[in-house]
Amino acid sequence: MKRLKCPQCEEFIIFDENEDVQDGMAKLECENCGKRFKVRLKPKRDDLGEVVVVENVFCEKQVFPLKLGDNLFGRKCNGTIVDAAIDTGDMSMDRRHCIFNVSEKDGELVYTVRDNESLCGTFVMNEILQKNEKRIIEDSEIITIGATTLILKTKK
Ligand SMILES: [Zn+2]
Repeated sequence: MKRLKCPQCEEFIIFDENEDVQDGMAKLECENCGKRFKVRLKPKRDDLGEVVVVENVFCEKQVFPLKLGDNLFGRKCNGTIVDAAIDTGDMSMDRRHCIFNVSEKDGELVYTVRDNESLCGTFVMNEILQKNEKRIIEDSEIITIGATTLILKTKK
């Protein structure tokens, strides 16, 4: 459910974004003043792609869905809070190793990755990222952190 202010009387209108919306437009009627109006809603994005951790001697295959904004990746460890905690014995992976970012530009999703001052660095297609470098990455590109391979899967 979503809440919106009536443009006429400023009472709140509650509506169901799954039922009252057609083609991204919600047709609403204010119960307080009777005003009818339409609003355009931002399309709901729930599939923003994911990062696949490839199975190796240290860990099994793992998949982490991405969210808009920064997604901090690192080795799973008690007391360390990251967006994607990779369950692995790979000690060359930092607990807060790299950051994937998803943003929207002209309706398209843009993916970047940057190193988070890790000990061993972050590699994109075998090239080490420079300090403060934000590398744009595409579908199926390979990112290496420590001895572990990650693959970006963008939104289908
Ligand atoms: Zn109203």
